[in-house]
Amino acid sequence: MTRRSSLAKGRIVIDQEMCKGCELCTTTCPYDLIHLAEQYNAKGYRPATLVDPDGRCTGCTLCAMMCPDAVITVLRHVKSRAGSAPLAVAA
Ligand code: SF4
Ligand code: SF4
Repeated sequence: MTRRSSLAKGRIVIDQEMCKGCELCTTTCPYDLIHLAEQYNAKGYRPATLVDPDGRCTGCTLCAMMCPDAVITVLRHVKSRAGSAPLAVAA
C-alpha cells in the first residue's frame, strides 16, 4: 500500500451562486485542486470549482475553513463495516 492510497478520499461541493471568487480557497488547497470557473455567476463573479480528475482530494477541510463565506461543503469517505460512506464534515 502506498502512502498516497492510504490517505482519505474526499470531495467538495461549492455553492456556485454564493461564491465571490476571492481565491482564498484556490491558494489554500495543498494539491491545487480548486480553480476559478471560466463562466460568471449571477453576482458577476467567477466561482471556485473543484478540478480533480484523479480523485486527489483528501477532504482535509482546509479550503472550507479558509472560505470567509462558508460556501464550501466537504464530503469525506469514511470506512465502516458496511463499506464506505460519505460524511459531511464542514460547510
Ligand atoms: S478538502 Fe483539502 S484536498 Fe480537498 S479541495 Fe479542499 S483543500 Fe483541497
Ligand atoms: S474562499 Fe469561498 S468565496 Fe472565496 S473563492 Fe473560495 S469558495 Fe469562493
